Amino acid sequence: MDEAISADGLIDRYCVIGNPIAHSMSPLIHKAFATQTQQKISYQAVLTEKVDFPTTIEQFYRQGMKGMNITIPFKMDAWEITDQYSPDAKLAMAVNTISFDKSGGIIGDNTDGVGFIRDLMINHNTLIKGKDILILGAGGAVRGILRPILDEQPDKVVIANRTVSRAKQLVRDFNIVDVSVCGFDELPERCFDIVINATSASLYGKQLPLSANLIKDDTCCYDLVYAKQNTTFGIWAKQNGATKVVDGLGMLVEQAAESFFIWRNIRPDTSRVIKQLRKEL
Ligand code: NAP
Repeated sequence: MDEAISADGLIDRYCVIGNPIAHSMSPLIHKAFATQTQQKISYQAVLTEKVDFPTTIEQFYRQGMKGMNITIPFKMDAWEITDQYSPDAKLAMAVNTISFDKSGGIIGDNTDGVGFIRDLMINHNTLIKGKDILILGAGGAVRGILRPILDEQPDKVVIANRTVSRAKQLVRDFNIVDVSVCGFDELPERCFDIVINATSASLYGKQLPLSANLIKDDTCCYDLVYAKQNTTFGIWAKQNGATKVVDGLGMLVEQAAESFFIWRNIRPDTSRVIKQLRKEL
């Protein structure tokens, strides 16, 4: 047990659970939020295996854990064990934040969409309304960001994924008809205003098979993955003339801030933490 678990319950415990987890910046972010807002909490990173996921959650609840962040690859597993969903989690069918109610019931939320929208629209001053948007990927992250993007009333949205059937399933689950779906080799020959890379290809240094015709100099190219220098997608975007190239560090901090707000009912100043993290990458 870590030293922050107090018998008198003075320190509330939180964690992020995933696999792999060693690289996670969530403990650093939540500790920075706690210091800034003078909240007494502990926050640790927990590695688990898929088969152990439900029992790990149960065990942490019994040990008095207040809430957990869920990361790759367990967001859908968390959705399956959740008792009550927030509207965002319900739409996403994926859970990245859980809180326990007094009887041990699991309340699931999804803060990825809020985090993405705040970073893109507020931190990077990019409007979605009336824009032509290309989303690359169809995994849990897209399930989190798709509805908030549609709520901002873009003109058109295209989703391209390596496995086209997964993208088709996603739009079926969302019950939407005005979003087109295709493979990377079927993308239309036109420029988009915003291209969002929500695949994990950059994590593995893999270049997506994309035509340079998809972007123009003022296309905002946003990679959900972040890196010390440029991500693989960011390099591709810059090499093809994009001037607004953004990585997912701001989204990471913004979605964490929304989890912190759900748990602690206080909003930290994210800009300070984004700057701090950028230096520490
Ligand atoms: P996921 O559910 O595992 O989905 C992965 C997606 O990436 C799928 O669409 C998959 O395509 C695609 N993909 C993986 N490797 C690929 C490759 N080599 N070439 C082409 N496509 C590939 O993961 P997720 O939860 O959606 O997360 C996606 C990425 O977003 C991750 O890297 C994650 O770290 C990042 N993310 C960042 C934040 C943030 O706060 N910044 C938040 C959430 C997620 P197939 O369907 O064909 O397998």
